Amino acid sequence: MKNTLIIGVSARIYYPDGPGLDLGGVWTRKLDYLEQSIAHWILAGGGMPVMIPAVDDESLVQHSAIDLDYYAAKLDGLLLQGGNDVAPESYGEAPLQPAWRGDKVRDRYEIALIQAFMDAGKPVFGICRGLQLLNVKFGGTLFQDISTQRPDARMHVDRAQYEKLCHDVELSAGTRLAELYPERRTARVNSIHHQSIKDLAPAFEAEAWCPEDGMVEAIRLRQGPYVAAVQWHPEFHRGSTSATFDDAPMLKDFLDAARAVRG
Ligand code: MN
Repeated sequence: MKNTLIIGVSARIYYPDGPGLDLGGVWTRKLDYLEQSIAHWILAGGGMPVMIPAVDDESLVQHSAIDLDYYAAKLDGLLLQGGNDVAPESYGEAPLQPAWRGDKVRDRYEIALIQAFMDAGKPVFGICRGLQLLNVKFGGTLFQDISTQRPDARMHVDRAQYEKLCHDVELSAGTRLAELYPERRTARVNSIHHQSIKDLAPAFEAEAWCPEDGMVEAIRLRQGPYVAAVQWHPEFHRGSTSATFDDAPMLKDFLDAARAVRG
């Protein structure tokens, strides 16, 4: 077990003053949390997930007191969880609606985390919001709301169906992702996002897109350390069925990259 990879996972943040039911008790507190499906997905691939707590201006500890480089040195890779919207301010826009103001605190925390892991040469993998944030960190922009800004696009989120809403993606030939799936040119993935990549940061290559509307669904850094992300939620897929993509090779590739750094 000594050689088991330890994967840092960015925290999802629950704000008690946000929309939702007032349940009292622990729900009156700000919570950093790790979704169980994410933890189990990493465990299934043979890694050990640990959540890296978020800090902000109101924390007892200030951000400057937290040495993220220490986390990056101790952990073998970084996985960015899905969750709250990226704040439009993080890519130089004002929110078109108050509901789309996003989570600036989490943006700052995760951008610093990504930088620390990249500086340490450790691989970074993003899921959903993680893909969007990576694009923003590298200078790209987002649609704040797909159905408002691209009314011709297909449906990419449906609260009632949640992870059961699926669509096809095309894997871009010649990319690492396509190489992991030599038998496939298309795959079916879940879709639980109302934001999406508008301008792709030049540092990234699009590895998969939605053939119905051209939305980017997977990206990878063209050069440098392993940084890749998908717009769908691999942790909700259940193995390889005709309906959904088998995410195991993708997870293995990320963990192999972490293993290679450890040496
Ligand atoms: Mn989608």
